[in-house]
Amino acid sequence: DLFYFFPRRYEDRTRMTSIPELKVGEWYTISGKVLTKGAHRSWFTKKHIYEIILDDGKGRIYCVWFNQSYLENYFTTGTQVVLYGKVEMYKNRIQMVAPEYEIIESNEASSLNIGRIVPIYSLTKGITQRYLRKTIRVCLDRYRNELADILPVSLRNKYRLSNIKRSLENIHFPESLTMQENALRRISFEEFFLFQLSVIMRRVSITRKRGIAHQVNETLIKRFAGAFPFQLTRAQTKVMGEIAYDMQKPSPMLRLLQGDVGSGKTLVALWGCVVAYDNDCQSAFMAPTEILARQHFENIEQILSQSSLKDMRVALLVSGLKPTQKEILMTQLKAGDIDLLIGTHALLNEQVQFKKLSFVVVDEQHKFGVRQRSLLSTKGTNPDVLIMTATPIPRTLCLTLYGDLDCSIIDELPQGRGSVQTRLFREEQSSEGYALVKDKVKQGEQAYIVYPIIEESEKLDLKAAQKMFKHFKKHEFKDFHLGIVHGQMPRKDADEIMRRFKNKEIDILLATTVLEVGVDVPNANVMVVEHAERFGLSQLHQLRGRIGRGERGGLCILITEPNTPEAHARIKAIMSSTDGFRIAQEDLNIRGPGEFFGRHQHGLNELRFANPITQIDILELARKEAIAFVEQDPHLEKGQNVILKQVIQKRYPKYLAMVEAG
Ligand code: ADP
Ligand code: MG
Repeated sequence: DLFYFFPRRYEDRTRMTSIPELKVGEWYTISGKVLTKGAHRSWFTKKHIYEIILDDGKGRIYCVWFNQSYLENYFTTGTQVVLYGKVEMYKNRIQMVAPEYEIIESNEASSLNIGRIVPIYSLTKGITQRYLRKTIRVCLDRYRNELADILPVSLRNKYRLSNIKRSLENIHFPESLTMQENALRRISFEEFFLFQLSVIMRRVSITRKRGIAHQVNETLIKRFAGAFPFQLTRAQTKVMGEIAYDMQKPSPMLRLLQGDVGSGKTLVALWGCVVAYDNDCQSAFMAPTEILARQHFENIEQILSQSSLKDMRVALLVSGLKPTQKEILMTQLKAGDIDLLIGTHALLNEQVQFKKLSFVVVDEQHKFGVRQRSLLSTKGTNPDVLIMTATPIPRTLCLTLYGDLDCSIIDELPQGRGSVQTRLFREEQSSEGYALVKDKVKQGEQAYIVYPIIEESEKLDLKAAQKMFKHFKKHEFKDFHLGIVHGQMPRKDADEIMRRFKNKEIDILLATTVLEVGVDVPNANVMVVEHAERFGLSQLHQLRGRIGRGERGGLCILITEPNTPEAHARIKAIMSSTDGFRIAQEDLNIRGPGEFFGRHQHGLNELRFANPITQIDILELARKEAIAFVEQDPHLEKGQNVILKQVIQKRYPKYLAMVEAG
């Protein structure tokens, strides 16, 4: 564990900058003797202030710490210290505020702590840099030679990666920063390689199984395409082709479908269901919320009823069903009297049994875990699986997160779509924004007003939707029909409100982010987002994707007071583009990968050292090699590969457990 407890940064202490050379605004490591020290309390802020003057023989600088009274006994005059911090100007003097500090003993001319590139670790109470460096040094000296290299020699030679002993030495006590970079590269390669091995073994364990080879004939495609009042887009047709190709093969499909909000993923998924139906098989379609499941159900029913596919039997399974209804449904399903079952994660329930399930759709994948998606598959004999997401994922992350899936992309919107004008209003100008909403609603359109939270919270000081609902009814929108939906209201009530909104009985709908995923009301072409700075970038993009249908073009009004640099960056990004992939990339840049996907996502959290964003080149090489290894030896049971497997089992048990469980 110590070996793999990596420094969080390094300091080059071979050449310290002398105090007269320091520039304001830059970060430096300096070294010198404590000349004077003293503490006082600010009469104004009551803060404890501790100051020293450091003298390096060439110049002097003030160093200040606030509220760290224990420092009073830490330094004594004459002590040799190393400081790291930012140089600032304060009342005509240069100073370092709260620099990191380290005492150097007088006999330490050259040691672990001085005269070299020095590792700086994250510390915890009671442990100092010096102590940790020394301990790691001793352990490296004593045990380094017992480390076994798990990265196969062939790969080490091919990519000129140093052995593990040397690499760890250069991670902790690098001879040069280049050596440190090379060492990190090697460690990252190993990590990517092992992780990709686990992902690819998982994939192969599924795709090597025998699934159902569907028949797809020409007339079916024509019948399907003819079922809509519009032309399928080129991108939709292309992806349908990819799905048809996979479904004809006996090995199970594992495919990720990415497409921006409103790009028409649902139809593409329905195509797979129709293929299954035509082959006398069943499909399951899982959506993350009840509102969405119901919406898919209603849309699909409507489409089918007007087409030559009206014999296809579709049912909806949500948790609110009466026991008798549910029982009937389960019996029909098992008897094969239902061709397509749409629902929420209620589908995962063990009572749900199909006669012959051959196609599975998981909508808005990021709302489900890997386990859930594989659980649904176990309800058939190796069905074809289509996973859909409206959060476009930059390629590099796609390999990390979904390295076990093939990728399809719908990269175009249906004609006349996506023309949304986005306008920005400050809090105090919100009535101007509301006036625009009134105009649009008077012309027969409908509007959303979206809020970040529901109950008023003192801490956040946001005007909650409920309070504004009452306010709007009396003032701004008293001449219109208003409705409100939020996550805390009973599902029945929420569904009822959505139904009335779809029927145009409600003009303006106040809502919390339940709208974010997939709600589809074409006549609602105006959206106000209150406190837009509180929303994530992808969330804003998803929300905005709800509008902009039809010829008229949508209007998105952001009411916001961006109060942090990140919030500014988000608002700027959403104002400047409507392209989901560009926005996703921007979001990733602003937030970093961990935040981007949320904590529950696998893959990113599994990686300790490697970074799929900055090390994409290494990731691709490691992935290529992992594929080659698994092709040669699918269960990693030959020769040295056994060791690889053992390590993976220990490190990524979730993945291998799934391989073994199938
Ligand atoms: P998403 O990709 O967000 O799931 P949907 O599949 O829900 O998008 O499609 C959004 C809307 O666009 C639906 O009302 C659907 O009927 C319609 N639609 C889908 N494909 C086309 C097309 N090729 N031309 C016109 N409208 C389409
Ligand atoms: Mg959708």
